[in-house]
Amino acid sequence: MQSEAVQKAKSELDAMVDRKTIVAELRGDRCRCGSTKARGQTFCRTCYFLIPPSTRKRLYERIGEGYEGAYRECCDYLDEKGKAKP
Ligand SMILES: [Zn+2]
Repeated sequence: MQSEAVQKAKSELDAMVDRKTIVAELRGDRCRCGSTKARGQTFCRTCYFLIPPSTRKRLYERIGEGYEGAYRECCDYLDEKGKAKP
């Protein structure tokens, strides 16, 4: 019982930390690839346009209402894309 509560608190904390990181990145002017980006946008134009439209349009969802998931999906996609480079 107790460990369940601990587990729950832990995953809530993880989500909070995650959200903090995501918001900080959103407010910053550096894309995860190292290029400069506009503040308030998630990625630089290069990364943004690499992401399939159906995935990147989900970045318009609000934080806490789907944005985090969309963000993670985009990162996964960009990581895969990066690996595919010769
Ligand atoms: Zn980028």
